[in-house]
Amino acid sequence: MQGFIIKLSRVKDEDMIVTIISEENLTTLYRFYGARHSPINLGFKIDFEAETSLKSSIPRMRDVLHLGFGWMGEYNRIRIWQQFIALFHPHLQHSDDIGSFYFQLLESAAQNWKNQNPKRLAIEAYIQLLEHEGRLHRDLNCFFCDNPIYNDISLIRAFLPAHKECSHTLSINAKGLSWLYDHYSTLFLDDYEIERLWHVINEGL
Ligand SMILES: [Zn+2]
Repeated sequence: MQGFIIKLSRVKDEDMIVTIISEENLTTLYRFYGARHSPINLGFKIDFEAETSLKSSIPRMRDVLHLGFGWMGEYNRIRIWQQFIALFHPHLQHSDDIGSFYFQLLESAAQNWKNQNPKRLAIEAYIQLLEHEGRLHRDLNCFFCDNPIYNDISLIRAFLPAHKECSHTLSINAKGLSWLYDHYSTLFLDDYEIERLWHVINEGL
């Protein structure tokens, strides 16, 4: 099976509980420490076997192979990747059956992560996630005062729309935002808007 590591927790000694978005679902496994095991880290894509046993409630992770990407040697890209992927655990941890959507989303983002500013890719992926979960707010009513927004759209956590004056945050240009929502593309957003939206994503998916 293949998947992306979205959380690692050390338990006793060097053993770890590893949570993975796999091709089919969210999977939690136990990894015993072994000197000959290849090191694994947050955000890695791995191939692995899950071995169930009667002794333990969570399957044991075996035969781990790291499936690297070319950009993983670039400190800035791996740092932003880990920051992004870590957000998926609090978001999905109570979901029973997540299907293949999240794996495909991460796979597609990882394939393109080397090509441009990765924060743009994270934002574009996040719009697809909101759409998939039925949480993309195209209607422009302010989260705070409930009145319509005609210009200067700001976005707060979960990309809820708000007046710039109500949220006191940088506004996003209307054309750039509608292009983003329709085409999953940040083409018409400038770097300040990207930094603002990246900041919002980091408040939680
Ligand atoms: Zn308002």
